[in-house]
Amino acid sequence: MPDDCLFCKIVAGEIPSTSVLDRASVYAFRDIAPAAPVHVLIVPKRHIGDVRDVRSEDGEVLVEMHQAANDIAASEGIAESGYRLIFNVGPDAGQTDFHLHMHLVGGKWLGGVGSG
Ligand code: 5GP
Ligand code: ZN
Repeated sequence: MPDDCLFCKIVAGEIPSTSVLDRASVYAFRDIAPAAPVHVLIVPKRHIGDVRDVRSEDGEVLVEMHQAANDIAASEGIAESGYRLIFNVGPDAGQTDFHLHMHLVGGKWLGGVGSG
C-alpha cells in the first residue's frame, strides 16, 4: 500500500469519512464533493491502483463492490429511480485518486451518457 494513498487512509480510519457500508473486503462512504443527491464511493479495503491494475485474482472483490452498489442503491432509495456506476480512468475522465473506486451517483436525472 502506498503511504500517501488517501483512500487507504480513509479505509484505515486515519482520515474521517461518512460510512455508508462496511464489509470484510469493501468500504463505502459519501463523496466529499457530491455531484448528485446520492454520491457514494465504493472501494476495496485492499489497495488496488485503478482499473488498469485489475488482475484475475481481484475478481471476488470486484463482485463484492457491485453487490455493495446494489445494496446501497436500495438503502438510499434509488434502486428503482436509477443511478450510475462510474470508474474514472485517466486525465480525460478527471481521475484524481489512484485507489480503485466506483462512484455510485443518483437521486436525480443524470442525463444520457456523454451529455457532459
Ligand atoms: P476520481 O475523480 O478520482 O474518480 O474521484 C475521486 C473522488 O474522491 C472525487 O469525487 C472527490 O470528490 C472524492 N474525494 C477526494 N478527497 C476526498 C476525501 O477526503 N473524502 C471523501 N469522502 N471524498 C473525497
Ligand atoms: Zn490505497
